[in-house]
Amino acid sequence: MTLIAGNWKMFKGPGEAGAFCRALRAADLPDGVDVVVAPPFVSLAEAVQALAGTEIGVFAQNCHWEEEGAFTGEVSAPMLQELGVYGTIVGHSERRQWFGETDAIVTRRVHHCLEFGLHVIACIGETAEERDKGATHQVLRRQVASLEPDPNLVIAYEPVWAIGTGKTATPAMAQEAHETIKDLIDVPMLYGGSVKPENAAELLAQPAIDGALVGGASLDVDTFAAICRAAS
Ligand code: PEP
Repeated sequence: MTLIAGNWKMFKGPGEAGAFCRALRAADLPDGVDVVVAPPFVSLAEAVQALAGTEIGVFAQNCHWEEEGAFTGEVSAPMLQELGVYGTIVGHSERRQWFGETDAIVTRRVHHCLEFGLHVIACIGETAEERDKGATHQVLRRQVASLEPDPNLVIAYEPVWAIGTGKTATPAMAQEAHETIKDLIDVPMLYGGSVKPENAAELLAQPAIDGALVGGASLDVDTFAAICRAAS
């Protein structure tokens, strides 16, 4: 399996999301590559509608750990499923950095989503400071410690210093981190961090890299489709 997932972050309202998805369904996408997009909550319905009848999945960017309740600003797995959403990203480093999400919170979110049958891309990765201190493996071990393999779980290794910075882990660095993680939890693994059409093929050729989580370069349909083709 090769999975290419586009994380749109806080970009593209419903109008833009619909136009993007209509262009994506008309784009030249390769066979044998699973493609998903993760729009902001407000654009999910539009994306689901525009991609209906295709193999392209729609993911959310986050999901709460309770089915319902007094949790202002949150949404639950059954609510996403009612919309036709197939999965969700959980524990993105921007959630950890700006919204105080801890490993414990991320674990609760992952467990809830899996329990309801939602597919999950759980994000982990070290900061530049942690890498400089030689703590990368320790951080990765801590972040996956409370996760168990599940047929619907994929882990994205996203070194925080490589996200949105234009700095990419070398294929060898990414391969090494993926091997460390796969020794702890045997699930498919995506690499994320400044993936572009120019570096995608080399990264995805690494044996422990099963796909990519793409941020900035997923916002343009031609660029995103080119990454999907580089993966085939
Ligand atoms: C991301 O948002 O998950 C990401 C990897 O971003 P970028 O590709 O822009 O580095």
